[in-house]
Amino acid sequence: MKKTVVSALIGATLALSAGAAMADAKNPKIGFSIDDLRLERWARDREYFTAEAEKLGAKVYVQSADASEQRQISQIENLISRGVDVLVIVPYNATVLNNAVREAKKAKIKVVSYDRLILNADIDAYISFDNAKVGELQASSLVALKPKGNYYLLGGAPTDNNAKVLREGQMKVLQPLITKGDIKVVGSQWVKDWSASEALSIVENALTANGNKIDAVVASNDATAGGAIQALAAQKLAGKVPVSGQDADLAAVKRVIAGTQAMTVYKPLKLIATEAARLSVKLVRNEAPAYNANYNNGMKNVSTMLLTPIALTKANVNVLADDGFYSKAQLTAN
Ligand code: BGC
Repeated sequence: MKKTVVSALIGATLALSAGAAMADAKNPKIGFSIDDLRLERWARDREYFTAEAEKLGAKVYVQSADASEQRQISQIENLISRGVDVLVIVPYNATVLNNAVREAKKAKIKVVSYDRLILNADIDAYISFDNAKVGELQASSLVALKPKGNYYLLGGAPTDNNAKVLREGQMKVLQPLITKGDIKVVGSQWVKDWSASEALSIVENALTANGNKIDAVVASNDATAGGAIQALAAQKLAGKVPVSGQDADLAAVKRVIAGTQAMTVYKPLKLIATEAARLSVKLVRNEAPAYNANYNNGMKNVSTMLLTPIALTKANVNVLADDGFYSKAQLTAN
């Protein structure tokens, strides 16, 4: 009798401590660590993500590292000690988070890489738009306008794995034309932190170095496209030299309508944010998300959900209003 009481007690204690360590599947706590909320797109990602997560009964703690590697690491550590069940991370620097991820995994926290892949770390899942496809869309839109000539390649941040994948997509389209001799790459630079002002001075220098003889600029996102177009405008070349982009930032969409930016790539942020919230909650609840790809991040093959990007030119800019991404008034306002 006595023995039964004692073992029942031990059993209860064990169950209690297991319960404390176990994730709260009904109301999961999600830590969302974002590289830089000061950028237009990421603020929208946060909004859509939080809305869906809350619908699913989760609570979201958001942190912005404001493009600081060190700040992101300490914010992640902070989220771990707050006892979140899952971490969703937009990495600033793809290669420095392996220790932070290891700590999370030790604490039985799931880790999801959002939009950008975290390299060499034991993450549970990755969700993104198909970045190689984004690169292809950027290059092929420019090639349609300038099948021959001098191309300048303006890459994304060297700390962001997407920058590399975008370039691979761009080169898939450009390489055959380079080999053929139709296209000549007159220069190429990666833009630190995807910064518009950095892009501006890079393209200013490229124009000077090439006596303004640049026929197209393959810019990897809208922020850097903005810088490139400012440099072109100073030489009265805006609208004459096609520039690509990505994100459908409002300023970029206005440039597309005005004809100074050839295209942007629309990635429905509501889709990625909603799917990411569902995926994260599923991981906590030990349900299987619907993956459709695999990415090797240097440590493992990461289960991946890849979404489809849409090329956007003046011709189909209405997609944004139809989708509720912007109102018609936003698109027509000066
Ligand atoms: C994202 C882009 C974004 C860029 C700068 C990339 O990883 O895929 O949508 O423009 O980062 O924030």
